[in-house]
Amino acid sequence: MKAQDYPPEVLELLASLKRMPGVGSKGAERLALWFLQQGRNEAQRLAAALSTAVSTVGYCPCCGFFSTEGKLCTACSDTTRDSSLLCLVEQPTDVLPIERCGIFRGLYHCLGGKISPLDGVMPEDLSVEKLLERVRALPGCEVILALSSDVEGEATALYLAEQLSPLPCKVSRLAQGLPAGAGLGHADPITLMRALQGRSGLL
Ligand SMILES: [Zn+2]
Repeated sequence: MKAQDYPPEVLELLASLKRMPGVGSKGAERLALWFLQQGRNEAQRLAAALSTAVSTVGYCPCCGFFSTEGKLCTACSDTTRDSSLLCLVEQPTDVLPIERCGIFRGLYHCLGGKISPLDGVMPEDLSVEKLLERVRALPGCEVILALSSDVEGEATALYLAEQLSPLPCKVSRLAQGLPAGAGLGHADPITLMRALQGRSGLL
């Protein structure tokens, strides 16, 4: 006797949902059942949103943050922002906690990671050339290193400070107080605001 189970279409849906980060077997089952109970409209809305996001969202050609259809992101196209301040972050998602703390009015540069020879990430894998190019075009600007406070983040900060030293810019870094070894996403807005306000010069 074969045990009763969901129809194959539902099993396929469960398998897809389970592949998503943070969704285990139980979570996948809850989501799938919710969609089945909601009927066609909810599923079509999700399918359309997913398809549109995946096909139109990419990265800003200037700073590397998320943008739509290869256009400049909101920050890069905002002429009221202070272009003499360039906040350097590891990942595009690191921009959001800084924006949410509400005091930074400059521009960003997303490196795309941090130097980590053990994981095979070398400086040439990161958006360093593009950063140097931007800094050359903005003489007198301040580059604020907002990297994580772990070993790789420190090594990346030192490497970048060295690369930036011949250029006409100031280099500073966030004040201490951010959680050691964690990325910006783990910092609460007040800690992040203090870290930005209390930043110290490197060069
Ligand atoms: Zn941008």
